[in-house]
Amino acid sequence: MHQSKTGADHIASLRDGRDVYIYGERVDDVTEHAAFRNSVRSASYLYDFQAQPRNIELMTFASPDTARRVSRAWQLPRSHDELVERRRALEAWAGTHFGFMGRSPDHVASCISGMVMGLDLFEAYDGKRAGALRDYYRFARDNDLFLTYVIINPQADRSKAAHQQADAELSAGVVDEDAQGITIRGAKMLATSSIMANEVFVTCIQPLQPGDAKYAVSFAIPMNAKGLKTLSRKSYEAAAHSSFDNPLASRFDENDAVLYFDDVKVPWERVFVNQSPDMTLKQFHATPAHVFQNYQCQIRLLVKMRFLAGLAHRIAETNGIVAMPPVRDSLGQIAAEVGLVEGLLCGMEAKGRMAGEYYVPDRHLLYSAQVLTQQLYPKVINAVRELAGGGLIMLPSGVEDFSNPLLAGLIGKTQQSPAATSEERVKFFKLAWDALGSEFASRHVQYEMFYAGASFVTRGHSYRTFDWAACTGMVDGLLSSYPGPGHSAGEADAAE
Ligand SMILES: Cc1cc2nc3c(=O)[nH]c(=O)nc-3n(C[C@H](O)[C@H](O)[C@H](O)COP(=O)(O)OP(=O)(O)OC[C@H]3O[C@@H](n4cnc5c(N)ncnc54)[C@H](O)[C@@H]3O)c2cc1C
Repeated sequence: MHQSKTGADHIASLRDGRDVYIYGERVDDVTEHAAFRNSVRSASYLYDFQAQPRNIELMTFASPDTARRVSRAWQLPRSHDELVERRRALEAWAGTHFGFMGRSPDHVASCISGMVMGLDLFEAYDGKRAGALRDYYRFARDNDLFLTYVIINPQADRSKAAHQQADAELSAGVVDEDAQGITIRGAKMLATSSIMANEVFVTCIQPLQPGDAKYAVSFAIPMNAKGLKTLSRKSYEAAAHSSFDNPLASRFDENDAVLYFDDVKVPWERVFVNQSPDMTLKQFHATPAHVFQNYQCQIRLLVKMRFLAGLAHRIAETNGIVAMPPVRDSLGQIAAEVGLVEGLLCGMEAKGRMAGEYYVPDRHLLYSAQVLTQQLYPKVINAVRELAGGGLIMLPSGVEDFSNPLLAGLIGKTQQSPAATSEERVKFFKLAWDALGSEFASRHVQYEMFYAGASFVTRGHSYRTFDWAACTGMVDGLLSSYPGPGHSAGEADAAE
């Protein structure tokens, strides 16, 4: 019982009859399907990684209820030191996928852990719903579940409230309620990693309008719940030509999906909020949930930014431009931008505060990081592409070209570098394109720009949480230090 979860355990847990669709067909087994199998293994490797004896202390802690070693993502930090200890585990996990799996299991675990840190809010709302959340946290933690979430209503007419859409049952909402629980009908976007998660947390983070109460729910169900349909987007993994040609898309395509709830029954013990717009918002913002889930994102992003900086430097070495002053200048800018992300991360930890018995990263520095990094990511991608020139495209069509002696000879003649063999050059630029320009890479730009909400949303959080009074107070202080018209300097001094 004390043994921690392994990758094999996770793969086995996904063979649960879940209802997943791609390319017009139902998927029998996500762990073997060409669209998903490598990503499933990358996700499962996270559990093998944390279970390794040399990593177990870094990556896991003993559940207070069962003593089983589980991911530190479930740990509720009580001090700055514990927060940093937890971050080191999350950083090491992100290192296994170079930051390319945005919705790794630590993301929603961080959200649910943050909600539990604010359990008193749920107690004040409804003791039974608070009990459901507390029990669910323990269940998910002790089984080290991989959770995903869907917290956004599908785009349709964004100028109208959920209940005013042409189809009032477009967004998932309650259509029935009885002694056993609630019944949910409708859709949510965008369940990243859902094909390889055990369960999904379903709620609404968007502000709801009067008349929208039926959409204001919060619950968790297994991915194989009766009536839950997972509608996958195109698979970049299936479209990957080979691991040589698409080293990232072939292994780290975490997938995104629309979820459709076809009258899914949710038992009361899994319902945390029932038809309360006020509580659905407060569960994120009046508890540490929103801070913890997005703090995890910044930890992962730092790893990805370091990887992109590595790509940039290697491009410059490969093309013999690394000593050129303008190239050094560009690399220096990229390095500074990596430093910005790291500085904000350390800052939000250092400036954190106690919320009850828990230590929580600084809210405004987190939102600063969100606002700035959703602008920064496309900028950095562009800067690295600018260094690369046509090398990202001047590539053999596929790994098979190396097996044709004529083509292999021509590749040797045409793919030249002062720092790499022709084979190394091709291998590297194939990786660079998958990170910077492929369809997989392009989806990552969209991801980093939107995973935490559109820019007007993150700027709204930054506005809301900033200490304006301290700043306007400085302005007032300066204004009061000199006289207005009609007053002498002496009067102003006397007023001080
Ligand atoms: C790759 C990817 C993965 C994702 N994964 C997940 C996931 O795992 N779970 C999940 O729940 N969600 C996920 N999302 C969804 C994500 O949370 C949303 O994309 C995000 O919250 C923005 O909402 P939206 O896409 O509906 O955009 P919209 O809200 O429709 O905004 C799009 C644009 O429309 C304009 N706009 C819209 N409304 C306004 C307004 N009121 N005022 C001013 N301008 C406006 C802005 O220009 C804005 O940038 C994912 C998204 C992406 C791209």
